Amino acid sequence: MNQLFKTSIDYLKGVGTSRADVLKKELGIFTFEDLLRHFPFKYIDRTRFYKIREINPDLPHVQVIARLTSFETVGEKHTKRLVAQVQDDTGVMELVWFQGIRWVEKTLIRGKAYIIFGKPGAFNGKAQIAHPEMEPYSAEAMKRKGNLTLQPAYNSTEKLKQFQLDTKGIQKLTAALLEAHAKDIQENLPQYILNRFRLMGRREAYIGIHFPEDSTKLHEAVHRLKFEELFAIQLKLLKNKLLRNQKFKGFVFEKVGDYFNTFYQQKLPFDLTDAQKRVLREIRIDTQRGVQMNRLLQGDVGSGKTVVALMNILLAIDNGFQACLMAPTEILATQHYHSIRNMVGEDFISVELLTGSVKQKNRKGIHERLEDGSLQVLIGTHALLEDKVQFKNLGLAVIDEQHRFGVEQRAKLWRKNVMPPHVLVMTATPIPRTLAMTLYGDLDVSVIDQLPAGRKPIETIHYYENQRLPMFGFMKREIAKGRQVYVVYPLIQESEKLDLKNLMDGVEVMSREFPLPQYRISIVHGKLTAAEKEFEMQRFVKGETQIMVATTVIEVGVNVPNASVMVIENAERFGLSQLHQLRGRVGRGAEQSYCILMSSHKLSREGRIRLDTMVQTNDGFKIAEIDLELRGPGDIEGTQQSGVLDLKVANLSTDQQLLLQARTVVEEIFEKDPQLEHPENLLLRQMLQTQNQGLSWDKIS
Ligand code: ADP
Ligand code: MG
Repeated sequence: MNQLFKTSIDYLKGVGTSRADVLKKELGIFTFEDLLRHFPFKYIDRTRFYKIREINPDLPHVQVIARLTSFETVGEKHTKRLVAQVQDDTGVMELVWFQGIRWVEKTLIRGKAYIIFGKPGAFNGKAQIAHPEMEPYSAEAMKRKGNLTLQPAYNSTEKLKQFQLDTKGIQKLTAALLEAHAKDIQENLPQYILNRFRLMGRREAYIGIHFPEDSTKLHEAVHRLKFEELFAIQLKLLKNKLLRNQKFKGFVFEKVGDYFNTFYQQKLPFDLTDAQKRVLREIRIDTQRGVQMNRLLQGDVGSGKTVVALMNILLAIDNGFQACLMAPTEILATQHYHSIRNMVGEDFISVELLTGSVKQKNRKGIHERLEDGSLQVLIGTHALLEDKVQFKNLGLAVIDEQHRFGVEQRAKLWRKNVMPPHVLVMTATPIPRTLAMTLYGDLDVSVIDQLPAGRKPIETIHYYENQRLPMFGFMKREIAKGRQVYVVYPLIQESEKLDLKNLMDGVEVMSREFPLPQYRISIVHGKLTAAEKEFEMQRFVKGETQIMVATTVIEVGVNVPNASVMVIENAERFGLSQLHQLRGRVGRGAEQSYCILMSSHKLSREGRIRLDTMVQTNDGFKIAEIDLELRGPGDIEGTQQSGVLDLKVANLSTDQQLLLQARTVVEEIFEKDPQLEHPENLLLRQMLQTQNQGLSWDKIS
């Protein structure tokens, strides 16, 4: 938008100081541009005319042609109202006004036909419209209506209505703005892009979205504005990526050496899936080209991300570098530590664990060995970020469950060597492709879209509370087969006390149903110290306990292949991605695994969709799509600082195709013209410049 549209809304004709104030406070409309971008949230169809006989209070807005037969003011003081009778060839209807009576009265003409528009109601069993819009019927008026068949409806508030800024009032302001300044709306996409994607011009689109001539034009206008919006984001993201590639040289991992090869040939207990191999190739290419790698590794739970991370670590070691792996919780870090040690075996590489609960004297040793380079791999929590933790030559940082780490923390990692290390971010919560492209659009994304062979899909069952007995029976049969069971309770953040009570009640019920000495139960919750948690976890891992009762602390990462049942209590309280994460804790061995969702009978519509989705599919990406549809991007972790929420027209869940187009074309443009120097790309250079003046987009990397 050019400078003109930055003009304060005070200066728009018909606004003035007091209305400007409420527009700012209530709708965040500060400038001409803000008003122009306050888009209608729906359109009322005025193509259709109703007969009076057809009208009933269930209809939305309707339009009627009828003759005014009589009108009169009735009532006193605050019950005073103007009531008019109208009729067509099918019946009679009442119109009523409670406000502006004197003015309306003056304009009404008995015997005249009107085009009447409004929301129908009923009074005394008779159809009625309160405060209708009225316009004398004429061939001329009908023609004009024919041109404006979709009436825009704008968000407004009670406060705004006091200033006559209801949907109609806002419509008037927008019309005034467009009337005066539509000519100043400049195109911001190059002609060749408009041609290629058959996009409407920008000016036409702004007019079209506010005052569409018909639904085709409306569709074209919205399409154009969506494209522009998605395009602008991709331009910014890919530009950042380009800049980063220029700015941050990366360590070169020249060779695949002994560590990698020995592990691959002698230690790896299974064949890699094709997807794992593909990702490893991508990483190999990334780390060879002299530019810092910034790769996001997405993979469904159980898809085998850890081994990919490990092989990346071995690649770093092969090239004389150290590596670290950071996880968001102590349990997870510990788990990684053990599983990596298990996979590599004794005396292969040196690995240590550093978390908050590692004793001071042990820390000292770790610090020293990191600094002299004898320690090759450090696994841990945030503790890795402390300034005291200095590497001799850190070449790779693997970050698990990335959305739990902030930008600051990642930046700290970057400063641990003279050049920033390569970064591999792993996320176990698949996010929809569109969201990934927008959230992590400046990262490279790898996807493991395949589970290891021989995995049996987890069977998911939904039980209501009164089906507790069959559930217990099921648990017992599985335990009798030598399997283990998780039972998870939700965390309700409002009250930790209540959570604990919830859990303890559950434990009591479980202990009665599963008594010693036949059964043994581990309990893990947030109130335990790290050491206590670890102790309980280990008992379960070693198979000393058959049941693990826990709050969601076990949500991510925990790997006990012998556990085959996941019972989730109050499942309706969990979000979809959380349910999917929890379910992913089972199904890790060769046995058939089960997930049992316990819920009350009272389910919201969304709650039911969530549970049904879980029962129907194991596909994390599909679940993520549905999650996005249900919640919108705003509630999905990691989106807050991303700019995704500034989307005004585009919708990440329905506009995938368009986003893909926008992304692809931006990629092509940068490929051909990285500096945007061609005259035909001048507009794009300007687009980037205006973006840079605008919002701060600092985020992820
Ligand atoms: P996630 O992607 O959820 O982090 P993990 O890395 O924990 O998954 O792997 C889950 C389990 O699958 C582990 O027990 C791991 O050893 C095993 N696994 C990984 N890759 C393969 C494979 N290609 N074939 C068989 N098992 C595999
Ligand atoms: Mg994992």
